[in-house]
Amino acid sequence: MGNWVVGIDLGATKIALGLIDPADRVVARRRIPTLAEDGPESAVERIAQQISDLQREVPDGSRIAAVGICTPGPVDHATGTIVDPPNLGWRNVPFRGMLSDRLGVPVALEHDAKAAALGEFHYGAGRGERSMVFIVVGTGVGAAIIADGRLYRGLHNSAGEVGHITLDPDGELCTCGNRGCVETYISGPWLARRYQRMLQRKGKPSPSLEEPITGETVAAQARAGDPVAMQVLTEAGEALGAAVATMAMILSIDLYVIGSSVARCGDLLLEPARRAVPRHCYQSVASHVRIVCTELWDDAPLLGCGWLARQTLAAPPAP
Ligand SMILES: [Zn+2]
Repeated sequence: MGNWVVGIDLGATKIALGLIDPADRVVARRRIPTLAEDGPESAVERIAQQISDLQREVPDGSRIAAVGICTPGPVDHATGTIVDPPNLGWRNVPFRGMLSDRLGVPVALEHDAKAAALGEFHYGAGRGERSMVFIVVGTGVGAAIIADGRLYRGLHNSAGEVGHITLDPDGELCTCGNRGCVETYISGPWLARRYQRMLQRKGKPSPSLEEPITGETVAAQARAGDPVAMQVLTEAGEALGAAVATMAMILSIDLYVIGSSVARCGDLLLEPARRAVPRHCYQSVASHVRIVCTELWDDAPLLGCGWLARQTLAAPPAP
């Protein structure tokens, strides 16, 4: 406490920055394009310009003491390296060191889903909980597990790949090469694909939807009473419920927070998920399971990065 920090969410298309006050509130925001093709040096420079701009919002006598940044995976949080995220096209970039050298303050670097999980855990739907799973349902599906207050990473830092749990060995071919993964039911692109295919099968014309169709588009159709869209979301929710039940059986964690774009479907997705949980696990386990929507939305990664930034001040990493 007592420090001003900046949280940064570096995505494939945009970089969002949030100035976080000593009371852990995002008090100013900036947003710039990522321009990944210009390379990481350009991103570092443009981030530094934004941070110097945000410094002007800090009261006299205080300064931005640390920065946390999250990026698409895979990342090596220990060395602060962006490994090779396909949607950035950067390989083995020591981004934490580059940014820290440029800014002259400690920097923490984390995977975006894990940072969002930390934000939600400390400041959002997970406040006061001991353990929680944050499930990102967007273009892809993944989870970050917080057990007894700490991120559970697994031996190879790959824990939480819930999107690729097999639900149906004869199901759709997934990008991972296997069939019938959770992701093939609930990711945004798959919601759209299933919706269009189901319309064709029923001989119904596609509604005049703007491309690209997303989970939110399907949700909008469902809210408007389209039974085909409602069926797609119900099946997606049931897949999510099966995945949550599987995790609950293994982890004995009760709280599952759903975030990212498909979470905007809200109860159209979450209600079928809640109903499905008891069909896939012990009743005694299901009775504890809670599936809720993110409270912080786009601020979850910013606040999680802010929390990580504060940790660098509490215990600076070894040089
Ligand atoms: Zn898969």
